[in-house]
Amino acid sequence: MFDLDEARLADAAACLALRNEIDRIARDLPPVALMEVCGTHTTAFFRHGVRGMLPASVRLISGPGCPVCVTPTSYVDLALRLMREPGVALATFGDMIRVPGSATSIEREKGRGGRVHIVYSAMDALALARSEPRTTFVFLAVGFETTAPTIAQTVVLAEKEGVANLRLLVGHKLVPPALRALLSHPELRIDGFILPGHVSVIIGSESYRFVSEEFGVPGAICGFEPVDLLKGVLSLLDARRTGRPAIANLYGRFVKSHGNRAALSALDSIFETVDTEWRGLGRMPASGLALRPSLRHRDAALLLGDDEIARLAASARDDAACRCGEVLCGTILPTECGLFGSGCTPETPVGPCMVSTEGTCAAYFRYGRQA
Ligand code: SF4
Ligand code: SF4
Repeated sequence: MFDLDEARLADAAACLALRNEIDRIARDLPPVALMEVCGTHTTAFFRHGVRGMLPASVRLISGPGCPVCVTPTSYVDLALRLMREPGVALATFGDMIRVPGSATSIEREKGRGGRVHIVYSAMDALALARSEPRTTFVFLAVGFETTAPTIAQTVVLAEKEGVANLRLLVGHKLVPPALRALLSHPELRIDGFILPGHVSVIIGSESYRFVSEEFGVPGAICGFEPVDLLKGVLSLLDARRTGRPAIANLYGRFVKSHGNRAALSALDSIFETVDTEWRGLGRMPASGLALRPSLRHRDAALLLGDDEIARLAASARDDAACRCGEVLCGTILPTECGLFGSGCTPETPVGPCMVSTEGTCAAYFRYGRQA
């Protein structure tokens, strides 16, 4: 019979052994900086106390792996503008409503009477559209390769059922181009990547081959348990020690080399790859998704004219003191932002990195502000 206590003891023993091995290898290496790309890894490293188990010479930096955080202000401004259109209601995941736009947030405008529905999936947005045919529901389609396939399936269903009043404001981002940008960043030295678990389930381990082959940097695809995290760190240190960078798939129970073909084909049937703007990383080639031309009638942005879209893009402004962009690239720690913990807290967030539960600033604030 499965014994939970014994399993925990076995886990603790495995963690201790991994920690000792990490210590041993790190002693013979120069200091290393490892980036956990995914926001859930950032919080998992803190929450499980794994950060504190690592030697001082192993520095963890957080990356752009939170979909809410990398969504630029111009996208929020566009959503806010759509909210003012007659007969339009927004449908969005909860985190998005608190992200500041240039002048206000969706939450604030909701308080002033704007129509916003918090949903848990795109299917919920479709259900709203079915139930209220006279309202145009604009779903805020943000997220990485993990979220986009289920949204693609929702669009397929809406087309099949002829539900015309569901539109998408597409802000999807793709992880591999962001890694390429980080690796080409002049001020950033990354010695290894802890690669996202869920994204990798969809895109597969082969998608990261360029990281080791072109840039000579190792990567480890990891789960979210303490043992998974420590194995990831050990694998990256070992790759540095042997001088053989590779992409280690340590989450093989879920991640295949070529990913989830059904999800990828759903994605491909609805979206095409386009250049897009990331907060902190700027505009990157082929780093986002847009609806295919045959589905433009689902594009919420087209409810506004081109001039209005251009005006909104040109007028988007971030809070001058917020340093989320640098936090997302890993060039500064959240604690180096002058607003951290004083002007900016999870209750009064100034930037998205303090809003989202996966945000780096929120993780540092919540878990003791360890460096
Ligand atoms: S979707 Fe999963 S893998 Fe991607 S950033 Fe969020 S938690 Fe990480
Ligand atoms: S502390 Fe707040 S203002 Fe500063 S970088 Fe983080 S989210 Fe932005």
